Amino acid sequence: MVAPLIEIKDISFEYEQTKALENISMSVQEGDFLAILGPNGSGKSTLLKIMLGLIKPTKGSIKLFGVDSKQFKNREWVGYVSQKSNSFNSGFPATVEEVVAGGLAKKSGLFRRLPKSAREDVKEALEAVGMEAFIDRSVSELSGGQQQRVFIARALVAKPKVLILDEPTVGIDHQNVQSFYNMLASLNRDKKITLVLVTHDVDTVTDRITHVACLNQTIHFHGFKEQLHTMSDEQREAWYGHSVRK
Ligand code: ADP
Ligand code: MG
Repeated sequence: MVAPLIEIKDISFEYEQTKALENISMSVQEGDFLAILGPNGSGKSTLLKIMLGLIKPTKGSIKLFGVDSKQFKNREWVGYVSQKSNSFNSGFPATVEEVVAGGLAKKSGLFRRLPKSAREDVKEALEAVGMEAFIDRSVSELSGGQQQRVFIARALVAKPKVLILDEPTVGIDHQNVQSFYNMLASLNRDKKITLVLVTHDVDTVTDRITHVACLNQTIHFHGFKEQLHTMSDEQREAWYGHSVRK
């Protein structure tokens, strides 16, 4: 049995005043496309930050690839697109290429001028998100959905095993949400990237994800129970909800 890519055991986390997570256990296997659902304030973003090592749990343990996460000094294994990151101000001067190449900096350190090989890596990452035609455009001219794809390319360019996305469709036009999720599904299927996604788009993601977790045992989402019935048996069996009861 292969060790899970991410394994969280009995995690709790408290901000100064607030209990954000209590005794959460869950795991992510290589190849999963996991959606984490839950009402606002249920601790979804906090859980992602714990997976990423950005904050330390008050209690519990995290293993990455079967090894205690404390042994991981860098975050090359993971790409992260945080909540509300798709909001460049108009007038933001960078080109798509510059923004995406920024994702290489964590690997090779800051650079004044892009190494030649960087453009090839940037192109490849942009192709994966369907944005290669925009490489020389200014990011401030792009729509919210296009900017979000650029952010994903920025995370992909360092070739992570896992991509962690926090509510990536906020700011994307309703009619473009479907194609956005198709793009994610193809990253998962064709590029073999493990995906962990926080979202409220239950209706749209249900037939694309392989696993679902819900923070909060009460499922508040309108229609979600009906959606569960449309899942395959494997998807239902893989339902993590019981183990992430808040
Ligand atoms: P979600 O992403 O599901 O909306 P969060 O993980 O952002 O939930 O927040 C979980 C709880 O922790 C909420 O009650 C929120 O108000 C609180 N919280 C989040 N971030 C902070 C912070 N930086 N300081 C104090 N409390 C916070
Ligand atoms: Mg959040």
